[in-house]
Amino acid sequence: MSITLKIVDAILSGLDGCWSIAIQGDRITEVAPYINDTAQQTLNAAGKLVIPGLVDGHVHLDKALLLNQHPAQTGTFQEALIETSKLKHGFTIEDIQARARQLIEREITFGTTLMRSHVEVDPMLQLTAMDALLPLKQEYAWGLTIQLAVFAQEGITNQPGTVDWLRRAMIMGGDVIGSAPYVDPDPEQNIRIIFELAKEFDCDVDFHLDFLDDDSPLLLPIVVEETLKRGWQGRVCLGHMTKLAGLAPDVLQAMAARLRDTSISVLALPATDLYMMARKDIHNVRRGVAPIHQLMNDGVTVGVATNNVQNLFTPFGDGDVLKMCTLLAQTLQLGTTQSHIDCLEMATTSAARAIGVSNYGIAPGNVADLMIINAKSVSDIIGAAAMDRTVIKAGKIVAETHVQQVLLPPEVSSSV
Ligand SMILES: [Zn+2]
Repeated sequence: MSITLKIVDAILSGLDGCWSIAIQGDRITEVAPYINDTAQQTLNAAGKLVIPGLVDGHVHLDKALLLNQHPAQTGTFQEALIETSKLKHGFTIEDIQARARQLIEREITFGTTLMRSHVEVDPMLQLTAMDALLPLKQEYAWGLTIQLAVFAQEGITNQPGTVDWLRRAMIMGGDVIGSAPYVDPDPEQNIRIIFELAKEFDCDVDFHLDFLDDDSPLLLPIVVEETLKRGWQGRVCLGHMTKLAGLAPDVLQAMAARLRDTSISVLALPATDLYMMARKDIHNVRRGVAPIHQLMNDGVTVGVATNNVQNLFTPFGDGDVLKMCTLLAQTLQLGTTQSHIDCLEMATTSAARAIGVSNYGIAPGNVADLMIINAKSVSDIIGAAAMDRTVIKAGKIVAETHVQQVLLPPEVSSSV
């Protein structure tokens, strides 16, 4: 098979000089300074950076872009939980799909090629969100691979019937199972039920875990224990983990060792975590973002993701994962070249591993999910990511953005 697409004159993270990338069909076949073979199509990166497609490992398509329907009155976590739960009464397949389409299309344009979306399933919403998002997973597969994580947001032991609905959602086509133990009066039982379902469906697990900043005990040791007991190493992902930000260094290091040894991954969600944590601090306000740079140094698989986009949990954001990298770097005070390279990995290769996708990134044999971005270095995009982007999904160009800015000094505008 001949080369279908060749990218030339590309800068690659961590490598000197310019590089070429050969793609056959949906796969990268060669990465070298110069590739002599002709191709059906050649893209000249013209000395710009080429990076792996972005990975949004934790997002909520079903409750994105709700602010127009319900602006915040108090802006508190309790308001977000209670009012979003009420809003769900009015969710329809059409409403969820309209909002999800907006976010999916934005993410494809920004360069996201792999996503895990949580899908709310409970006795009130039942399977409406699954009915809405399953068809979109197929419809947008040309631009974005979407994993659907069946998600019990409202608790399990306090919501009779939830387990049956979760089971039905998995039978429909859920890829992953998860919950938010912090809203359940019996968080330990909540965690065990999810692991039981994961065993039943032989699927990975994804918890919204330790999303607090108080002194209550961590739930992490329970997840570690269940992971070991059931042999689920490498199949568990934890979102938020804001409590890790408040641990003393020796305790954090001990937790990092347990995460590494059980291959449990952690995703920081800085847009939500910065907005929701430390609300009781009236001075010297803490940040409340999991120190994933330290976890990465200790060998834990970590990532950064968007979580919520413009709803009561996070009234900000546009779905650009690179903006999350910038926010993370600012919050965790990451200023060196190497820490910026790490940040980009947290939004690409490392984030992919965190949600169970290995062999992701710019290397022969991997799926050709790539982006050409108007930058000379990784620090350029962590500093301020350009909008000029060409997105390639499975070897095909799926989105392009070109921004034109024109200065109009007085003599130019007056002569028109
Ligand atoms: Zn979430």
